[in-house]
Amino acid sequence: MTNQADETDVTGGPSRVPAGSFSQWLGDAEASIRSGTIGADVPCGTCRGCCRSSMFIHIRPEETLTIKRIPRALLFPAPGQPKGHVLMGYNDQGQCPMLVDSQCSIYEDRPQTCRDYDCRIFAATGVAVDEQSQPEIANRVKQWVFDYESEESREEHNIVKQAAGFLENNRDLFPPGSLPGYPVQMAALAVRIYRVFSEMTAKRRLDAPSDAAIAQAILIEMGRAQPAANG
Ligand code: SF4
Ligand code: SF4
Repeated sequence: MTNQADETDVTGGPSRVPAGSFSQWLGDAEASIRSGTIGADVPCGTCRGCCRSSMFIHIRPEETLTIKRIPRALLFPAPGQPKGHVLMGYNDQGQCPMLVDSQCSIYEDRPQTCRDYDCRIFAATGVAVDEQSQPEIANRVKQWVFDYESEESREEHNIVKQAAGFLENNRDLFPPGSLPGYPVQMAALAVRIYRVFSEMTAKRRLDAPSDAAIAQAILIEMGRAQPAANG
């Protein structure tokens, strides 16, 4: 998330919030997921949804400035991660303890996980946010509206959504544990593999591949380049 001035007034009920060019967003998201360090420049405005959504924030050992800024008592070892990886929890209201007066009190040293978080990925992929546990994020996702500079850009968006749908509807074609459990990780995976999905399902193909063949191609792509560790 990014603290920026609001560009849209919200007058009761979901309004539309410009998400920017879809193709630009997609290129940036691919680069961010690949690098694990670029982060996302999200026009959050006054929204602080992801700081108030009962999320555990993963912090890597190399984020020394971040770790120094957070009281030790708020950090605990991240399950399943190598030594030094920690998580920061949330308070009884589901709020990050670093959020003070609706501002991130460690903004300049905030965790990479926070820099990477971009809820537009749910609008881009169609992966659902849990409205019960994360209502603020779910509301914001409904507000985002991408723009398209061409029909190709609009089609690109359809393919990303179809790739996400394929992953969600064909879990049984993937080895147990190979697909992520959390919606945001599933959405990021859809962005990672949509090109392969697009090649496999291209209308020009004469040999329509089976779902199992598409899943196999996705698995190969998943093994080709692992993204940097993230929460
Ligand atoms: S929920 Fe989305 S818009 Fe709101 S602060 Fe988080 S990333 Fe920004
Ligand atoms: S560290 Fe800052 S940006 Fe990250 S969740 Fe907490 S308040 Fe939000």
